[in-house]
Formats: sequence, structure tokens, C-alpha cells
Amino acid sequence: MSQAEIVVPTQKGLFFGGRWQTPAEAKPVEIRSPATGALLTSIVEASERDVDAIVASARKGYAIWRDVHPFERAKILREMAAIVRANIEELALLEAIDCGNPVDELRRDVEMSAWLLDFFAGLVTEMKGSSVPAGPNGLSFSVREPYGVVLRIAPFNHPFIFSIGRTAAPLAAGNSIIVKPPEQAPLSALRTTELVGHLFPPGVLNMIPGDRHLGAALTAHRDVALVAVTGSVPTGKAVMRSAADSLKRVLLELGGKNALVAMPDCDPEAVASAMVRGMNYTWCGQSCGSTSRAFVHADIYDAVIERLPAHAARYKPGVPTDPGTTMGSLVSQAQLDKSLAYIEGAKAEGARLVCGGSRPVHDGLDKGFFLEPTIFADVTMDMKVAREEIFGPVMSVLRWTDEDEMMRQVNQVEYGLTFSIYTRDIVKAHRLAARAEAGYCWVNEVSRHIVGSPFGGFKQSGIGREECLDELLSYTQEKNIFVNLGI
Ligand code: NAD
Repeated sequence: MSQAEIVVPTQKGLFFGGRWQTPAEAKPVEIRSPATGALLTSIVEASERDVDAIVASARKGYAIWRDVHPFERAKILREMAAIVRANIEELALLEAIDCGNPVDELRRDVEMSAWLLDFFAGLVTEMKGSSVPAGPNGLSFSVREPYGVVLRIAPFNHPFIFSIGRTAAPLAAGNSIIVKPPEQAPLSALRTTELVGHLFPPGVLNMIPGDRHLGAALTAHRDVALVAVTGSVPTGKAVMRSAADSLKRVLLELGGKNALVAMPDCDPEAVASAMVRGMNYTWCGQSCGSTSRAFVHADIYDAVIERLPAHAARYKPGVPTDPGTTMGSLVSQAQLDKSLAYIEGAKAEGARLVCGGSRPVHDGLDKGFFLEPTIFADVTMDMKVAREEIFGPVMSVLRWTDEDEMMRQVNQVEYGLTFSIYTRDIVKAHRLAARAEAGYCWVNEVSRHIVGSPFGGFKQSGIGREECLDELLSYTQEKNIFVNLGI
């Protein structure tokens, strides 16, 4: 068992203007563990009535922060990273009881977030402009400046990375930030703010718990310059529509219905293992990059299918705070109901259940939103389970024979986040990766993110790239300055 104590945030309020403040309507909101149903604590959320004060404080924070020397900004971000690392056990444990994902994996999320803070701290000197030749009597050059107040809206699946790790780039670039953590799992973000809030001038880092109505109200505020959302496609569309009124910039990291392609030349055992790993069953499939559609060539189809249950069996739903747990619980009743509805729908549409499909009820798991790792074979693209993002532990396996038709089906969905291909033929791998309408492709790999490489979606999976230099530059705007030297 982990040695860390569970520490819930002691502050009940909104963090803005450099201190904890009481919302206009201080209604307590109970936060319960999705794995046990236990009451963890109560918090208070912000409402539309708080938005003006929050944004005004972030405007003031921006006026200070944009003039802080970039090296000093980097130093503060590194201090934040050090505090995050020093509290890794506590933060991972809190995240585990709050969002249901296993603590062992959440240590990696906390570590990754500290890494991102260090990474963007190291990139502050890359906020470069350029110059163009303007003749002997002119100097024309550009500089990069921050936008102002950035709003960062986070989803529930990796609350820490999206609420804390993703503050790094906007802050490194000199923006102030308002973070709205996910309403389902806000505790690790609030606790981290208790630990690091003092590092920043007032109004620079603002942590505001609340629901989607708060997200919408903040998005609509005219003094918010840029909105960065990680969430579902409908949320991305709503944010973009609202942002249009004041023509604010949007960065969108949205959903996926990602394909893994198994070519006939590959080892069925290796492919079966990869298909299961690519589903991110540890997080109950609640990962945007999950390869939830596996296209397996007919030559190896049966051999792959018969191997899948053994691989899936490595993921056993269990209490997320136990370091031995390999699969957590879904985050909410709504997520559980949604997955169960897709499972019933797949059966009704004629898909073949290979394993899973039920809620585990042993060892007290009946009190949580647990679901077995579920795999359907003989899925076809006319089935809903193959076309729509479930964001649950449900994989669809499709059989293919004709390569062109298979790639047409791969690209048939509105999403375009990740793509994975398994083959020993490197030329084929490159050719199909080039044809995939997806922003992030793996060859003989799944799920892995390489910090520094651009992560983001094609089509409706998003706008913008993260985890790379482009993320930092997305939070800057270029200003050109021409100097007449001929006077
Ligand atoms: P969601 O869209 O329901 O909510 C995400 C956040 O947006 C929450 O904080 C919510 O309160 C807020 N929100 C909802 N409606 C809003 C509105 N109209 N205006 C402003 N804010 C609003 O998503 P979720 O269920 O929390 O997360 C799952 C989704 O996130 C999946 O679709 C998943 O694929 C996607 N996701 C994408 C990535 C990526 O990098 N592409 C990463 C993680 C998750």
C-alpha cells in the first residue's frame, strides 16, 4: 500500500487574486469517490455571478506577469514542478480516490505534469520572432507577445495533467490563466493550488471549480483572450461558437474514435497484446487516444481474437488507491450508464461479445462504477459501437481483406486523433500512416506520448498541437515592428 496519507484540500473556495475567496453563492457540492461512493469532502463552486471578478483579477495578474522576465517566469515554473514532485504520492492518491484511476498510473500523470512544467520553463527563450530584409534604411522584425487572460477548461480523465500540467505553456509565455478543473474530479487541482499558489503574483494562476455553465460563462467573457479546451466534440463546438462573438482564439483537444490496423504479416500474439494496451483499460478506456477500433486482417483474425481474453484478463477492476490495481473505475454513473448502453446496443446490432460486458460485483466493487474490460468481435462500420466515441472500456474488432476499403473505413469517422499500424513492412507502414486522417500515428506502438512531439487532432478531433514547442507558440501572438532608419 502507498505510504502517503489522503489529504483533501482544506480551503473551500475559489483561488483568484492570489487568495481563496468565497463565491457569490457558496452552495456546498459533495465530492464522492467513484470507486467506493464514499464522501471525500465538500467544495464550493463558482457560478456566473463570480465571473466578472475572476476575470478582472486575471487581467491584473496579466499586467504584472507579462513584464516578469522570462527567466524569472521559468524559475517559478521550475519551483512549481519541484513542489509537485515533492508531493507526488499525496497528489496521486488524492487523484485516485477522486477520479477512480489507479494510483500507480496517476504517479506517472503527476510526474508527467512536473515534466511539462520543466519542459516549457526551458522553452521560454524560444518565443522568438523573425526579421526580414527591409533595405538599408529599414528594420522590420517581429516579436512574440502573450495574449492576455487564457482560460483552460479540463476534462475528467487525466484531471492532474489537464488542470496542472497544461498551465505550463500559457504561463511560460506570459499569459495569466484561469483553470476550470473537471467538475467530476477537482480535488488534485485544488490541493496543488494550495501548495503552489503563493509562487505567483496575485491573479496569475487562478483555480476556479465549477460545472459546464461556469465554463460557458467564462468562455463568453470579453476579457478572456484565448480558450483552451480539452473535452468532447460537442463542448469544442459550443466553445467555438461562443468564442466567435468576441473573436477569441480557441485551442481544442477533442475526442477520438481511433483505429489500430493489423496487417496480415504481423504476429497475432503481439497484435493482441497491443490492441489491449491501446485501449488504455487501466483508465477504463477513458483516454482520448484509445485505439477503440481494431481493424484486423482476415488471415490472422481468428488467431488474434482467441488471444484477446488472456490479455484483457491482465486488467482487473480494483480499488484505485491500491498500488496493485491494474484497472480503476469509471468516473461517474453517467459514464458507466453510457458504456453499458453501448454494450447492449452492440449486442443488439449483432456484434459478438468476446469478453467482459458486465459490472464486477465481488470484493465490494458493486458500490463503484466498475466495468470489465470489454471486447466485441465481428463489428462492422454500420454499428454505432464502431462509429461513436464511447470513452469507456469497450473495444470493437473489425475484420478486413481489401486495403483500400479498410482505409476508407478508418477515415470514415468525423474524428482524427490517433492511428496505429502493426506490420513488419516498413514501406507499407509509412504509406498507410500517410493516408491516415489522424494527427498522431504510431507504427508498431500504441498510446505512447513523446514530449516534444506534437499531439493533436485532424478533423473534428481538434485545433492546435500540444506537448511541443507549437503549444508554447499557440499562447503567443506575433507583432511586427518596422523602424525607419532613413530619417
Ligand atoms: P466534456 O466535453 O463533457 O467536458 C470537458 C470540460 O468542458 C469540463 O470541464 C466541462 O465542465 C466543460 N464544458 C462542458 N461544456 C462546456 C461549454 N459549453 N462551455 C465551456 N465549458 C464546457 O468532456 P469530458 O466528458 O470531461 O471528457 C471526455 C472528452 O474529452 C472525450 O471526448 C475525450 O476524447 C476528450 N479528451 C480529449 C483529449 C485530447 O487530447 N484530444 C484528451 C482528453 C480527453
